[in-house]
Amino acid sequence: MTVDTTITEVHVELLRLPLPRPMLSGSAGGAGAQPVAHISMPVIFITTASGLRGLGYAWSHMGGSLATRTVLERDINPLLIGQDALNHERIWAQIGKKLQAVGRRGLVVHAQAATDMALWDIKGKAAGLPLHKLLGGIRDDAPIYGSDGGWLYMSVDEMLDAFCAYLDDGMIGVKMKVGHDDVNIDIERVTAVRKALGDDVWLTVDANQMWDYPKSIKAGRAFEELGIGWLEEPINCEDISGHSRLAADLDIPIALGETLGSRFEFDAYLKADAVDILQPDIIRMGGITEMLRVASMAEVAGRPLAPHHMMEVTIQVACGVMAKAPIEHMPWMEAAFTESPDIKDGRMRPPKGAGLGLEISDEAVKQYRVE
Ligand code: MG
Repeated sequence: MTVDTTITEVHVELLRLPLPRPMLSGSAGGAGAQPVAHISMPVIFITTASGLRGLGYAWSHMGGSLATRTVLERDINPLLIGQDALNHERIWAQIGKKLQAVGRRGLVVHAQAATDMALWDIKGKAAGLPLHKLLGGIRDDAPIYGSDGGWLYMSVDEMLDAFCAYLDDGMIGVKMKVGHDDVNIDIERVTAVRKALGDDVWLTVDANQMWDYPKSIKAGRAFEELGIGWLEEPINCEDISGHSRLAADLDIPIALGETLGSRFEFDAYLKADAVDILQPDIIRMGGITEMLRVASMAEVAGRPLAPHHMMEVTIQVACGVMAKAPIEHMPWMEAAFTESPDIKDGRMRPPKGAGLGLEISDEAVKQYRVE
Protein backbone atom coordinates (compact mmCIF):
# COMPACT_ATOMS: atom_id res chain seq x y z
CA MET A 1 0.00 0.00 0.00
CA THR A 2 1.41 3.36 -0.89
CA VAL A 3 1.04 6.21 1.52
CA ASP A 4 0.38 9.75 0.33
CA THR A 5 3.29 11.69 1.83
CA THR A 6 2.34 15.06 0.39
CA ILE A 7 2.81 17.70 3.08
CA THR A 8 -0.55 19.27 3.92
CA GLU A 9 0.04 20.98 7.23
CA VAL A 10 2.90 22.43 9.26
CA HIS A 11 2.58 23.45 12.88
CA VAL A 12 5.30 25.15 14.93
CA GLU A 13 5.62 25.50 18.71
CA LEU A 14 8.25 26.86 21.04
CA LEU A 15 8.66 25.06 24.38
CA ARG A 16 10.69 26.09 27.40
CA LEU A 17 11.69 23.08 29.47
CA PRO A 18 13.14 22.89 32.98
CA LEU A 19 16.55 21.20 33.10
CA PRO A 20 16.77 18.17 35.42
CA ARG A 21 19.94 19.74 36.85
CA PRO A 22 21.02 23.35 36.21
CA MET A 23 24.02 23.67 33.93
CA LEU A 24 26.99 26.05 33.81
CA SER A 25 29.78 25.84 31.26
CA GLY A 26 32.36 28.23 29.87
CA SER A 27 30.17 29.13 26.93
CA ALA A 28 27.03 29.50 29.08
CA GLY A 29 28.25 32.32 31.28
CA GLY A 30 31.47 30.86 32.66
CA ALA A 31 32.68 30.26 36.21
CA GLY A 32 30.90 32.49 38.71
CA ALA A 33 27.82 33.12 36.55
CA GLN A 34 24.30 32.01 37.48
CA PRO A 35 23.58 28.43 36.37
CA VAL A 36 21.15 28.00 33.48
CA ALA A 37 17.90 26.29 34.54
CA HIS A 38 15.92 25.98 31.27
CA ILE A 39 16.35 24.93 27.68
CA SER A 40 14.39 26.23 24.68
CA MET A 41 12.96 23.76 22.20
CA PRO A 42 11.51 25.03 18.90
CA VAL A 43 9.32 22.20 17.58
CA ILE A 44 7.92 21.54 14.10
CA PHE A 45 5.11 19.07 13.38
CA ILE A 46 4.73 18.20 9.71
CA THR A 47 1.56 16.36 8.63
CA THR A 48 1.04 14.51 5.35
CA ALA A 49 -2.12 13.82 3.30
CA SER A 50 -2.33 10.29 4.73
CA GLY A 51 -2.15 11.61 8.29
CA LEU A 52 1.45 10.74 9.13
CA ARG A 53 2.92 13.31 11.48
CA GLY A 54 6.64 14.01 11.66
CA LEU A 55 8.26 15.58 14.70
CA GLY A 56 11.38 17.72 14.52
CA TYR A 57 12.99 20.06 17.02
CA ALA A 58 15.96 22.26 17.77
CA TRP A 59 17.47 23.47 21.04
CA SER A 60 19.23 26.44 22.55
CA HIS A 61 20.13 27.77 25.97
CA MET A 62 21.37 31.25 25.37
CA GLY A 63 18.71 32.89 23.23
CA GLY A 64 17.66 32.83 19.59
CA SER A 65 14.76 30.38 19.92
CA LEU A 66 12.07 32.97 19.13
CA ALA A 67 13.92 33.76 15.92
CA THR A 68 14.24 30.06 15.08
CA ARG A 69 10.48 29.73 15.53
CA THR A 70 9.94 32.66 13.17
CA VAL A 71 12.21 31.14 10.51
CA LEU A 72 10.24 27.90 10.75
CA GLU A 73 6.87 29.66 10.56
CA ARG A 74 7.58 32.34 8.00
CA ASP A 75 10.39 31.04 5.79
CA ILE A 76 10.30 27.25 5.86
CA ASN A 77 6.61 26.45 6.31
CA PRO A 78 5.50 28.01 2.94
CA LEU A 79 8.23 26.07 1.17
CA LEU A 80 7.01 22.74 2.55
CA ILE A 81 3.29 22.74 1.80
CA GLY A 82 2.49 20.58 -1.24
CA GLN A 83 5.90 18.89 -1.41
CA ASP A 84 6.49 15.17 -0.98
CA ALA A 85 7.96 14.67 2.49
CA LEU A 86 10.09 11.81 1.16
CA ASN A 87 12.08 14.25 -0.99
CA HIS A 88 14.01 15.35 2.08
CA GLU A 89 17.32 15.85 0.28
CA ARG A 90 15.57 18.15 -2.19
CA ILE A 91 13.89 20.09 0.60
CA TRP A 92 17.15 20.34 2.58
CA ALA A 93 18.84 21.84 -0.48
CA GLN A 94 15.92 24.23 -1.11
CA ILE A 95 16.04 25.56 2.44
CA GLY A 96 19.80 26.02 2.13
CA LYS A 97 19.46 27.92 -1.15
CA LYS A 98 16.63 30.11 0.07
CA LEU A 99 18.22 31.13 3.38
CA GLN A 100 21.99 30.75 3.01
CA ALA A 101 22.46 34.49 2.55
CA VAL A 102 21.06 35.11 6.04
CA GLY A 103 22.59 32.17 7.90
CA ARG A 104 24.90 29.34 6.93
CA ARG A 105 25.12 28.36 10.60
CA GLY A 106 23.24 29.30 13.74
CA LEU A 107 19.50 29.73 14.00
CA VAL A 108 18.68 29.30 10.30
CA VAL A 109 20.54 25.98 10.29
CA HIS A 110 18.76 25.02 13.53
CA ALA A 111 15.42 25.51 11.75
CA GLN A 112 16.67 23.56 8.74
CA ALA A 113 17.78 20.74 11.06
CA ALA A 114 14.44 20.56 12.86
CA THR A 115 12.64 20.36 9.52
CA ASP A 116 15.02 17.69 8.25
CA MET A 117 14.42 15.67 11.41
CA ALA A 118 10.64 15.79 10.97
CA LEU A 119 10.96 14.63 7.35
CA TRP A 120 13.13 11.66 8.38
CA ASP A 121 10.55 10.87 11.06
CA ILE A 122 7.87 10.75 8.35
CA LYS A 123 10.09 8.61 6.14
CA GLY A 124 10.49 6.06 8.96
CA LYS A 125 6.78 6.10 9.68
CA ALA A 126 5.90 5.70 5.99
CA ALA A 127 8.21 2.68 5.83
CA GLY A 128 6.99 1.35 9.19
CA LEU A 129 10.60 1.25 10.43
CA PRO A 130 12.52 2.80 13.31
CA LEU A 131 14.97 5.27 11.81
CA HIS A 132 18.11 3.35 12.76
CA LYS A 133 16.82 0.34 10.84
CA LEU A 134 16.00 2.51 7.83
CA LEU A 135 19.51 3.97 7.94
CA GLY A 136 21.24 0.62 8.07
CA GLY A 137 21.05 -0.84 11.58
CA ILE A 138 24.77 -1.19 12.18
CA ARG A 139 24.14 -2.05 15.87
CA ASP A 140 21.29 -2.45 18.34
CA ASP A 141 22.52 -0.15 21.10
CA ALA A 142 25.34 2.24 21.96
CA PRO A 143 27.43 2.89 25.07
CA ILE A 144 26.75 6.13 26.89
CA TYR A 145 28.85 8.38 29.04
CA GLY A 146 27.63 10.72 31.79
CA SER A 147 27.72 14.39 30.95
CA ASP A 148 25.16 16.10 33.18
CA GLY A 149 27.17 16.12 36.39
CA GLY A 150 30.39 18.07 36.06
CA TRP A 151 29.26 21.70 35.78
CA LEU A 152 31.42 24.65 36.77
CA TYR A 153 29.25 25.65 39.76
CA MET A 154 29.51 22.20 41.34
CA SER A 155 32.01 21.35 44.05
CA VAL A 156 34.29 18.34 43.65
CA ASP A 157 32.10 16.41 46.09
CA GLU A 158 28.92 17.30 44.20
CA MET A 159 30.51 16.19 40.94
CA LEU A 160 31.67 12.93 42.49
CA ASP A 161 28.15 12.16 43.71
CA ALA A 162 26.83 12.64 40.18
CA PHE A 163 29.70 10.72 38.56
CA CYS A 164 29.41 7.76 40.93
CA ALA A 165 25.69 7.48 40.12
CA TYR A 166 26.56 7.39 36.41
CA LEU A 167 29.29 4.81 36.89
CA ASP A 168 27.06 2.68 39.13
CA ASP A 169 24.60 2.63 36.23
CA GLY A 170 27.31 1.06 34.09
CA MET A 171 28.17 4.06 31.93
CA ILE A 172 31.56 3.96 30.22
CA GLY A 173 32.81 7.18 31.83
CA VAL A 174 32.09 10.79 32.68
CA LYS A 175 32.85 14.33 31.52
CA MET A 176 33.52 17.42 33.60
CA LYS A 177 33.69 21.09 32.69
CA VAL A 178 36.90 23.10 32.93
CA GLY A 179 37.67 26.57 31.60
CA HIS A 180 38.45 28.83 34.55
CA ASP A 181 40.53 31.88 33.81
CA ASP A 182 43.12 30.46 36.15
CA VAL A 183 43.86 27.01 34.73
CA ASN A 184 45.37 25.95 38.07
CA ILE A 185 41.83 25.82 39.48
CA ASP A 186 40.84 23.37 36.75
CA ILE A 187 43.99 21.29 37.18
CA GLU A 188 43.25 21.04 40.92
CA ARG A 189 39.60 20.07 40.37
CA VAL A 190 40.44 17.46 37.73
CA THR A 191 43.25 16.06 39.89
CA ALA A 192 40.85 15.69 42.83
CA VAL A 193 38.22 13.96 40.68
CA ARG A 194 40.80 11.66 39.11
CA LYS A 195 42.17 10.72 42.52
CA ALA A 196 38.70 9.94 43.89
CA LEU A 197 37.52 7.96 40.86
CA GLY A 198 40.78 6.09 40.34
CA ASP A 199 42.97 5.77 37.27
CA ASP A 200 40.81 3.22 35.49
CA VAL A 201 37.74 5.41 35.03
CA TRP A 202 37.39 7.09 31.62
CA LEU A 203 37.28 10.80 32.43
CA THR A 204 37.18 13.63 29.88
CA VAL A 205 37.23 17.42 30.21
CA ASP A 206 35.53 20.22 28.27
CA ALA A 207 36.75 23.84 28.25
CA ASN A 208 33.97 25.24 25.99
CA GLN A 209 36.43 27.51 24.13
CA MET A 210 37.53 29.43 27.22
CA TRP A 211 41.32 29.29 26.77
CA ASP A 212 44.08 30.52 24.52
CA TYR A 213 47.01 28.46 23.29
CA PRO A 214 49.31 28.93 26.36
CA LYS A 215 46.55 28.04 28.83
CA SER A 216 45.50 25.06 26.72
CA ILE A 217 49.07 23.76 26.55
CA LYS A 218 49.56 24.09 30.29
CA ALA A 219 46.27 22.42 31.15
CA GLY A 220 46.60 19.85 28.36
CA ARG A 221 49.98 18.66 29.61
CA ALA A 222 48.62 18.32 33.15
CA PHE A 223 45.61 16.38 31.85
CA GLU A 224 47.93 14.07 29.92
CA GLU A 225 49.66 13.20 33.20
CA LEU A 226 46.24 12.50 34.71
CA GLY A 227 45.25 10.14 31.89
CA ILE A 228 42.30 12.26 30.72
CA GLY A 229 40.46 10.81 27.71
CA TRP A 230 40.17 13.97 25.64
CA LEU A 231 40.43 17.76 25.84
CA GLU A 232 37.23 19.24 24.39
CA GLU A 233 36.97 22.67 22.74
CA PRO A 234 40.04 24.23 24.36
CA ILE A 235 40.05 27.45 22.28
CA ASN A 236 37.78 29.55 20.06
CA CYS A 237 36.02 27.35 17.50
CA GLU A 238 36.94 29.77 14.69
CA ASP A 239 40.66 29.24 15.34
CA ILE A 240 41.49 26.27 13.14
CA SER A 241 45.22 26.95 13.02
CA GLY A 242 45.34 27.33 16.80
CA HIS A 243 43.76 23.91 17.21
CA SER A 244 46.09 22.52 14.59
CA ARG A 245 49.09 23.74 16.59
CA LEU A 246 47.62 22.33 19.80
CA ALA A 247 46.84 18.96 18.25
CA ALA A 248 50.45 18.73 17.06
CA ASP A 249 51.94 19.79 20.40
CA LEU A 250 49.76 17.73 22.76
CA ASP A 251 49.37 13.97 23.05
CA ILE A 252 45.90 14.20 24.61
CA PRO A 253 43.28 13.95 21.81
CA ILE A 254 41.51 17.20 20.86
CA ALA A 255 37.72 16.75 20.61
CA LEU A 256 35.46 19.36 19.02
CA GLY A 257 32.67 19.96 16.56
CA GLU A 258 29.60 20.88 18.61
CA THR A 259 29.78 24.47 17.42
CA LEU A 260 30.52 23.72 13.76
CA GLY A 261 27.72 24.43 11.31
CA SER A 262 28.25 22.12 8.33
CA ARG A 263 30.34 19.38 6.73
CA PHE A 264 32.45 22.11 5.17
CA GLU A 265 33.51 23.36 8.59
CA PHE A 266 34.42 19.82 9.64
CA ASP A 267 36.35 19.41 6.40
CA ALA A 268 38.42 22.52 7.15
CA TYR A 269 39.37 21.10 10.56
CA LEU A 270 40.21 17.70 9.07
CA LYS A 271 42.35 19.22 6.31
CA ALA A 272 44.28 21.21 8.93
CA ASP A 273 44.79 18.16 11.19
CA ALA A 274 43.21 20.26 13.91
CA VAL A 275 40.88 17.70 15.50
CA ASP A 276 41.22 14.10 16.71
CA ILE A 277 37.63 13.29 17.73
CA LEU A 278 34.61 14.70 15.84
CA GLN A 279 31.60 15.87 17.88
CA PRO A 280 28.85 16.93 15.48
CA ASP A 281 25.65 18.31 17.01
CA ILE A 282 22.73 17.12 14.90
CA ILE A 283 20.95 20.49 15.22
CA ARG A 284 23.80 22.93 14.93
CA MET A 285 25.08 21.28 11.76
CA GLY A 286 21.84 20.95 9.83
CA GLY A 287 20.11 17.74 10.80
CA ILE A 288 20.26 14.01 10.21
CA THR A 289 21.07 14.55 6.53
CA GLU A 290 24.25 16.51 7.30
CA MET A 291 25.17 14.23 10.23
CA LEU A 292 25.26 11.26 7.85
CA ARG A 293 27.67 13.12 5.60
CA VAL A 294 30.01 13.92 8.49
CA ALA A 295 29.86 10.30 9.67
CA SER A 296 31.20 9.24 6.27
CA MET A 297 33.88 11.94 6.39
CA ALA A 298 35.01 10.75 9.83
CA GLU A 299 35.37 7.21 8.58
CA VAL A 300 37.42 8.30 5.57
CA ALA A 301 39.62 10.51 7.78
CA GLY A 302 40.06 7.77 10.37
CA ARG A 303 38.75 9.97 13.19
CA PRO A 304 36.42 8.66 15.92
CA LEU A 305 33.00 10.23 16.31
CA ALA A 306 31.44 11.24 19.64
CA PRO A 307 28.25 13.15 18.75
CA HIS A 308 27.23 16.07 20.93
CA HIS A 309 24.07 16.06 23.08
CA MET A 310 20.62 15.40 21.46
CA MET A 311 20.75 11.77 22.56
CA GLU A 312 17.08 11.00 21.75
CA VAL A 313 17.72 11.53 18.02
CA THR A 314 21.45 10.91 17.80
CA ILE A 315 20.90 7.34 19.02
CA GLN A 316 19.07 6.64 15.75
CA VAL A 317 21.99 7.78 13.60
CA ALA A 318 24.53 6.16 15.92
CA CYS A 319 22.78 2.77 15.72
CA GLY A 320 22.11 3.29 12.02
CA VAL A 321 25.58 3.99 10.64
CA MET A 322 28.16 4.58 13.40
CA ALA A 323 29.84 1.37 14.50
CA LYS A 324 31.55 2.76 17.59
CA ALA A 325 30.47 6.27 18.61
CA PRO A 326 29.36 6.74 22.23
CA ILE A 327 26.25 8.71 23.17
CA GLU A 328 26.49 11.71 25.46
CA HIS A 329 23.97 11.33 28.28
CA MET A 330 22.34 14.75 28.63
CA PRO A 331 18.70 14.38 29.70
CA TRP A 332 17.85 17.99 28.87
CA MET A 333 14.79 17.38 26.68
CA GLU A 334 13.22 14.61 28.74
CA ALA A 335 10.38 16.75 30.11
CA ALA A 336 8.99 17.10 26.58
CA PHE A 337 8.65 13.43 25.70
CA THR A 338 5.99 10.91 26.70
CA GLU A 339 8.60 8.19 27.33
CA SER A 340 12.02 8.12 28.96
CA PRO A 341 14.94 6.82 26.90
CA ASP A 342 15.68 3.10 27.04
CA ILE A 343 18.92 2.99 29.02
CA LYS A 344 20.17 -0.14 30.76
CA ASP A 345 23.60 -1.23 31.99
CA GLY A 346 25.23 1.85 30.53
CA ARG A 347 23.82 1.34 27.03
CA MET A 348 21.06 3.14 25.18
CA ARG A 349 18.67 1.52 22.72
CA PRO A 350 16.64 3.48 20.17
CA PRO A 351 12.87 3.60 20.76
CA LYS A 352 10.96 0.73 19.15
CA GLY A 353 8.42 2.89 17.33
CA ALA A 354 8.64 3.84 13.65
CA GLY A 355 10.60 6.94 12.65
CA LEU A 356 12.18 8.66 15.63
CA GLY A 357 9.84 6.82 18.01
CA LEU A 358 9.37 10.04 19.98
CA GLU A 359 6.18 11.75 21.03
CA ILE A 360 5.40 15.09 22.61
CA SER A 361 1.96 15.07 24.23
CA ASP A 362 -0.57 17.90 23.88
CA GLU A 363 -0.33 18.30 27.67
CA ALA A 364 3.44 18.86 27.48
CA VAL A 365 2.93 21.43 24.71
CA LYS A 366 0.36 23.24 26.86
CA GLN A 367 2.54 23.08 29.96
CA TYR A 368 5.77 24.32 28.38
CA ARG A 369 4.54 26.49 25.50
CA VAL A 370 6.06 29.95 25.00
CA GLU A 371 3.43 32.28 23.53
MG1 MG B 1 31.20 20.43 24.83
